[in-house]
Amino acid sequence: MTTQTDLPTTAEAELLAKVPTGLFIGGEWRQTEKTIDVFDPSTGDVLASIADASAADATAALDAAVAVQDEWAATAPRTRSNILRKAFDLMQERRDEFALLMTLEMGKPLAESNGEVTYGGEFLRWFSEEAVRITGRYGTNPEGTGRMIVSQHPVGPCYLITPWNFPLAMATRKIAPALAAGCTVIIKPASLTPLTTLYFAKLLEEAGVPAGVVNVLTTSSSGAVTEPLLDDPRLRKLSFTGSTPVGQKLIQQSAKNVLRTSMELGGNAPFVVFDDADLDAAVDGALAAKFRNIGQACTAANRFIVHASIADEFARRVTDRVKGFTLGRGTEEGVTIGPLIDDRAVKKASELVEDAVAKGATLLTGGKAVDREGTFYEPTVITDVQQGSKILREEIFGPVLAIVPFTDEADAVRLANDTEYGLVSYVFTQDLARGQRMIDKLQTGMMGLNVGVISNAAAPFGGVKQSGIGREGGLEGIHEYLSTKYTMTPAS
Ligand code: NAP
Repeated sequence: MTTQTDLPTTAEAELLAKVPTGLFIGGEWRQTEKTIDVFDPSTGDVLASIADASAADATAALDAAVAVQDEWAATAPRTRSNILRKAFDLMQERRDEFALLMTLEMGKPLAESNGEVTYGGEFLRWFSEEAVRITGRYGTNPEGTGRMIVSQHPVGPCYLITPWNFPLAMATRKIAPALAAGCTVIIKPASLTPLTTLYFAKLLEEAGVPAGVVNVLTTSSSGAVTEPLLDDPRLRKLSFTGSTPVGQKLIQQSAKNVLRTSMELGGNAPFVVFDDADLDAAVDGALAAKFRNIGQACTAANRFIVHASIADEFARRVTDRVKGFTLGRGTEEGVTIGPLIDDRAVKKASELVEDAVAKGATLLTGGKAVDREGTFYEPTVITDVQQGSKILREEIFGPVLAIVPFTDEADAVRLANDTEYGLVSYVFTQDLARGQRMIDKLQTGMMGLNVGVISNAAAPFGGVKQSGIGREGGLEGIHEYLSTKYTMTPAS
């Protein structure tokens, strides 16, 4: 079913009028001569025109971050904690606004945007709690001749680059631990969805974040703005979330100053369903792992590796459910599938499905772009996908569920690991021993065992292989922004 697009409502216009449009540098909002238009992907309408930073603006932002780094690092952990907690509270008060803003600029249905406000907000609360738990070690060396002190210190000014698919959570997942650790930051959101970060920076200002501690650069020239920052020895850390090719380039650029880097990159998640699985749970998990965020998540299940004896039944059940989805503008009541982010995304989904079908896959539902305004692609299910199909190698980043049958456990493990990525894997089985074997054998940073959604602020999020370096969230997250210092003193 397809619903029609509404004209922007008064509530939308009022919200957009509240969102700052400038660069945020040293506590001031600065306009630029050039601007970038931000579009609603469900209509193609311009939502706002925002500042377009140059390389000189980037250096000004670093100047601002460097100027207050020592002072911010010296604030009491309780002060930093209280500011983050205040930001969490403000986020709850404004949750409807943040949800609507994300739906407008990114397209996901409002219910999902609300879920992201909950998830993204939790990083503020979690790291407000972690800020006061930065500890070290003290002990005697084995020889008994000295005392060893191990302490933790903020790494220094950080540059944070975020993608467009989770406009709020990707920002809070980096800013909150950095601030908790005592680091100042410059954040560069994706030019496709910068409004949420700008509105969030305003919230942080109100929560009491001092001028210069958080700076925001929006730009249409990411490479040109990033280069001077990575070249500047005053910058001490890069945290990037985005595609693997851009991450690889940034790792190379970070070599010059031997920057600390955290890399949250692409995925190609396997979703393995064994013949002993609870099929109802597997179907629910599959729909959540695939269609959340319209398939545009690094954690989205990319390859459904299903035991041959249940593959037809699994395919039938997911297809029935997918046919019941409602496609439309994310602000509309009952919509479950919004638009893809842009034309390129629609083209990519179309090409991957066409390639798979040409190589022998069967199309069960969907399979084409939707003929309406905005960048919509039909929710799609294909089965019997053949090895050699591009869809098994590349991140789909769209609402396409691709099924590959397997016959034995070793085969499932081999298929699941047959990728250069290793972010997340999903496994459905009721056999505990088999579940344990899969934990041991799958090359993955995270695993959903009989669940289709795994993200949580209290968990270490991150990948192995070409999916990244480092972890965000959990007890590990703050350590990405701390460096360890060891001091030796004589035994008294
Ligand atoms: P992308 O094209 O790599 O862009 C990510 C960010 O990098 C954007 O802010 C982009 O800005 C910026 N960028 C692009 N080229 C750059 C350059 N040369 N120098 C500096 N910055 C540059 O990725 P995307 O399409 O936005 O996001 C989708 C990808 O992110 C997928 O691969 C997905 O798996 C991954 N992702 C990973 C995680 C994770 O936690 N592992 C989470 C979410 C998404 P502009 O677009 O404005 O140029």
